Amino acid sequence: MTIRTRFAPSPTGLLHIGNARAALFNFLFSRHHGGQFLLRIEDTDRARSTQHAVDVILDGLDWMGLTPDEPPVYQFARQARHAEVALALLEAGHAYRCYCTQDELKAMREQAAAEGRPPRYDGLWRDRDPSEAPAGAPFTVRLRSPRDGETVVDDLVQGEIRVANAEMDDMVILRADGSPTYMHAVVVDDHDMAITHVIRGDDHMTNTFRQSQIYAAMGWERPRFAHLPLIHGPDGAKLSKRHGAQSVVEFREQGYLPEALDNYLLRLGWGHGDAEVLSRDEQIRLFDLDGVGRSASRMDYTKLTHMNGVWLRAADDGRLARDVLARLEGRPGLVLDEVAAARILRLMPGLKERARTLVELADAAAFLARTVPLPLDAKASSLLTPDARALLHGFAGEIAALEPFTAAEIDAALRRHADAHGRKLGQLAQPLRAAMTGSTTSPPIDATVEALGRDETLARIRSVLGAAIGG
Ligand code: GLU
Repeated sequence: MTIRTRFAPSPTGLLHIGNARAALFNFLFSRHHGGQFLLRIEDTDRARSTQHAVDVILDGLDWMGLTPDEPPVYQFARQARHAEVALALLEAGHAYRCYCTQDELKAMREQAAAEGRPPRYDGLWRDRDPSEAPAGAPFTVRLRSPRDGETVVDDLVQGEIRVANAEMDDMVILRADGSPTYMHAVVVDDHDMAITHVIRGDDHMTNTFRQSQIYAAMGWERPRFAHLPLIHGPDGAKLSKRHGAQSVVEFREQGYLPEALDNYLLRLGWGHGDAEVLSRDEQIRLFDLDGVGRSASRMDYTKLTHMNGVWLRAADDGRLARDVLARLEGRPGLVLDEVAAARILRLMPGLKERARTLVELADAAAFLARTVPLPLDAKASSLLTPDARALLHGFAGEIAALEPFTAAEIDAALRRHADAHGRKLGQLAQPLRAAMTGSTTSPPIDATVEALGRDETLARIRSVLGAAIGG
């Protein structure tokens, strides 16, 4: 049997990380077993299902490296097939036409409430002769659910769960306008797509019992089910805006790498020994549903940020430099030309050591794209004392003559110059950093100076010396 899983989002305009994690688990499970991962867009809510909402899902999955193995299936386009199956159920006697009016259904609900019963359809048309139907009246199609026995789901995460069939009323599978209900469409689609494993959030658990009844009525083999516990906020409450980012787009904007988000979402609710940082290949090799925990997980943004830092340091410098340039685009006071791009790429090994997100990385790299005079923050200004400026003035002479212009030579020159003037290295290096970056933090100063190049280094030193004379 070929394992086939699917991710079946409703296009609502965002890809929630709970859903993204479900997609990841479906992807990894199918890959681990040499199977296929499919995508079904559940676009039956026509008001919400815009092309933009669909693109958000497609882009998000693509960004996370979870590209489906077949073109997406669009649920709305399959309405005729959903109706066909409903008619087959009618013909087989597993479903019936219900002519109840809205008023009758309302009265049914009110009576149930008055008697303290859950609001259920009372089976009014279940055994009525169709000849009693009012001529030309609209009808819905309801499943003739079994009244006795129970429905058992052997969930691959939650274990065995049983529900008495008497607990479930005869649900509508086809509405009066001929459109299928969600419950019905999902079953028909999963069957037709030959899905073997349905892995989804445990908010769908009750749907699974309902859906099982449709499989049984059609005589179709049910897929196996795995219901994933939800992701909560750090305080244990339902994840919401006030906790922080929730959608894949937000995490992307906040500077998280897809591989870090993947890795974090995998570890949130799945474990394999002490393994923390796992490459995609390792994830595929190790993932299986028996490692998925049964209780809700808590989103830990600090841990995610830490993990992002780990992946950032492992990421390719060219890729990071391109991302940084895109993030700096449009910021005032920067010149993002080829020279700046080359400097950013050159200093990337040092820059990425210090950043935890791409936003921090871009902030830390911005000085490389500035032109003199640089804005100086308060701490940087305070380092540029008359004494420090005099030292820098002399050091500029060394820089002008330095050959080759490499980090190692720059470091040696710094030490020599500080030594010759009876100063500690920091007494020269710190003011130099202030002049180069406008701040007091940066990658090692020798690498920073090397990345800026001789001319720019001299221009930046002259600029602070000039400001000193002018001031
Ligand atoms: N479309 C449903 C949702 O977005 C998921 C259906 C399923 O996975 O069976 O919640």
